[in-house]
Amino acid sequence: MADSKFSLVFATNNPHKLKEVQHALGDRFTLVTLNAVGISDDIPEDHDTLQDNALQKARYVYSKTGQSCFADDTGLEVEALNWEPGVYSARYAGNAKNSKENIQKLLSKLKGVENRRARFRTAIALILNGEEFLFEGVVWGKIIDQERGGDGFGYDPIFVPDGFTETFAEMPLLLKNQISHRGKAVEELCKFLKSRF
Ligand code: IMP
Repeated sequence: MADSKFSLVFATNNPHKLKEVQHALGDRFTLVTLNAVGISDDIPEDHDTLQDNALQKARYVYSKTGQSCFADDTGLEVEALNWEPGVYSARYAGNAKNSKENIQKLLSKLKGVENRRARFRTAIALILNGEEFLFEGVVWGKIIDQERGGDGFGYDPIFVPDGFTETFAEMPLLLKNQISHRGKAVEELCKFLKSRF
C-alpha cells in the first residue's frame, strides 16, 4: 500500500481549496472532487458548529458514494463581533455567497472599532472506511480596514495573520498553506493518514 496512491473524495468543487489541500497532502494522495463523483446537490450544512457541519457534509458524501472522503468547514471569527460571522461566513451578506459583499459588510460593522482581533478556524471531518475522525486548525490575526492583494479567496484580502504584515491575499500560496487554519487542519489530517498508509 505504501507506494500506491490513495484516493479520497474531498467534498468541494472550489478550485482554490482543491489546489491548496492537494499541495499540502502531496502526490501520495489523489483528491477527487464532488463533480468527479457526480454529486451536484447543494449539500446541507445547517448546524451551528463547524465540526457538525463538516461531519454532516462528509456523511452525505459517504452515504452517496461509499468512498472514503473528507469535508471541511471554515469560519472567520471576529472577537469584537462576538465571534461573528463564524459558521455563517460564506453567506454573511446573503445567499449569493459573494466575497466582496461579505467583506464590505464586515468592514462596515468594524468601522471605528479598535479591536481587530480575529481568527480563522477550520474543522475537517474524515470518514475512512466508515470510521469518523475530526481535525481542527486555527490561525489568529487581525482584520485591516481595506482590501489588499489579488490572490486567495473569501476574506483573504482583509486578514493579516499574526507575525506578518501581508494579508493572506498578498502571500504566496505555499506560505499561506504553511500557516493557515486549513493548512494546520490539513497537516493534522495528513499526519493521521500517513500513520495509516
Ligand atoms: P468553507 O467552509 O471553506 O466553504 O468556508 C466558508 C467561508 O469562509 C468561505 O465562503 C469564505 O468566505 C471563508 N473562507 C474559508 N476559507 C477561507 C480562507 O482560506 N481565506 C479566506 N476566507 C475563507
